[in-house]
Amino acid sequence: MLLTSGTGPASGWLRPRRRPSTYALKDGNNTILLDAGSPEAVMDVIEIFGRPKCALISHAHADHWSGLNVLRWKGLKVYSHEDTFAHPYFKEIVDAPFDLELNAIEYFKPINVCGFEVVAFPLKHSIPTAGFLINGKVAYLLDTKGLPEETFKYLKGRVEYIIVDSALPEGVKGPHNSFKEAVDLSLDLEVKKAFLVHLLPMIDMDEVLDYAESKGLDAVIPYDGHTYKV
Ligand SMILES: [Zn+2]
Ligand SMILES: [Zn+2]
Repeated sequence: MLLTSGTGPASGWLRPRRRPSTYALKDGNNTILLDAGSPEAVMDVIEIFGRPKCALISHAHADHWSGLNVLRWKGLKVYSHEDTFAHPYFKEIVDAPFDLELNAIEYFKPINVCGFEVVAFPLKHSIPTAGFLINGKVAYLLDTKGLPEETFKYLKGRVEYIIVDSALPEGVKGPHNSFKEAVDLSLDLEVKKAFLVHLLPMIDMDEVLDYAESKGLDAVIPYDGHTYKV
């Protein structure tokens, strides 16, 4: 099961309320966090799925890790690429991890993380960023604008569900996918279903969903607190 606990960008949304990037997967008794961008969203994960023992962190921007503070004194294994742990934006955690255990993972090498099979790969953002494929079928692709070729080749035809950066309205430049790029990427990867997330608050959700439907993509813009079978 996927819990979309925080579906917003760094600014969040006021209405409907969307908190920064915080997602969780539950499989049996195992719960894993996919980013932890909001303390409150992490608290909801704990209440709905139980306390996660592991977290995958994509990159060092604070809207993807500040919720780690909730588990700083309770124990959590944190996994990311070594470039994230070395980045100045992540220094606060590295300098004082308390009960967080930091584990660097290499790209394209499968590892077991709290009972989930995880493969990390590089994304394309303004700072070094890792994406993750979990249990061979769910891919976490944020923050990113497009994909490096090796990552695209690895995922194409393999991944079933993607949680994908769809931040930007058309015509706005930045190190994120426009929502149209996110839809087109989902089609190119031949996914079963796309979760379009991290949208900036000025985006019209109907316009996004109409575009996805016109292209024949099964897409959803999830709300905070919703769960999905994946
Ligand atoms: Zn972000
Ligand atoms: Zn970012």
